[in-house]
Amino acid sequence: MVFRRLKPYTVLITATGKASITLSIRPRHLLLGLVLLVGLPLTWMGSLLYQNIQLARQNQALSAAATEVLTELDVIEAEIEVLKHRAGLPDPVDLDALDSGAELPPQGGVATPAAPEAMFDLAKQRLPSLGTLLNTAVKPALEDTLASEAEQQAAFPTGKPVAGDLSISSEFGLRPNPFGGRSYEMHEGVDFAGPMGKPVLATADGVVMAAEYDRSYGNYVKIDHGYNYETLYAHLSEFAVTIGDRVQRGDVLGALGSTGRSSGPHLHYGIYRNGQAVNPRYYLTLEASP
Ligand SMILES: [Zn+2]
Repeated sequence: MVFRRLKPYTVLITATGKASITLSIRPRHLLLGLVLLVGLPLTWMGSLLYQNIQLARQNQALSAAATEVLTELDVIEAEIEVLKHRAGLPDPVDLDALDSGAELPPQGGVATPAAPEAMFDLAKQRLPSLGTLLNTAVKPALEDTLASEAEQQAAFPTGKPVAGDLSISSEFGLRPNPFGGRSYEMHEGVDFAGPMGKPVLATADGVVMAAEYDRSYGNYVKIDHGYNYETLYAHLSEFAVTIGDRVQRGDVLGALGSTGRSSGPHLHYGIYRNGQAVNPRYYLTLEASP
């Protein structure tokens, strides 16, 4: 060992009139003392510094995570606003717009970054209120809106009342009396010329409000679709429904015929909106939404 080969140091302390003191210090002990006096505090300070750097890094990571969570919450909140609007719920009151006249009190100072803990607390406070808003207000309102929209869609006369490509033999509007003479009559629907017995189909969901014989329309079916819409299917040879039946779009109402005031097998199809006959042409080309 190096220490063994080193000779001990001798320190002589003398004072006039007093006995001198002789200290014999071995290098090994001196080195040990130095290590204890200088080395240990240095190690301790180093470890403190290292811990501080680690803490700062962790803090930075936490802050980044908290910022991400809060940003994500902002996005969710914005999406909930879109859903609220779609559900027909009132839009939030714009407080800034209300206060536009008032000036903000002077603000400023040193910007201190928010502690991650405080940011997480804020996120934790916001989450339950967003969840409650979504579940108790937005979701039910949205479901109601979508259901009523679907119901309205289903009640809207769409497409043709007969399958296949039947030609229209008479349009909606004024036309010369088909039974001769020089008079004109208002034709409140369109006529489809077609083979006897061809199934006649409901063009929207509704309730059968009439399935009976009339001198002009012959055997006719009238459906109340709600939302102020009714449809009429006339000159049928047979009925497939009775009054009060609930029908869906595409259900068979009866068979094409030539009963009543008719010059040959055809279906008279009429659409009434608020009790007024409207031209079915526009509705015929519409496609039912799935
Ligand atoms: Zn007609």
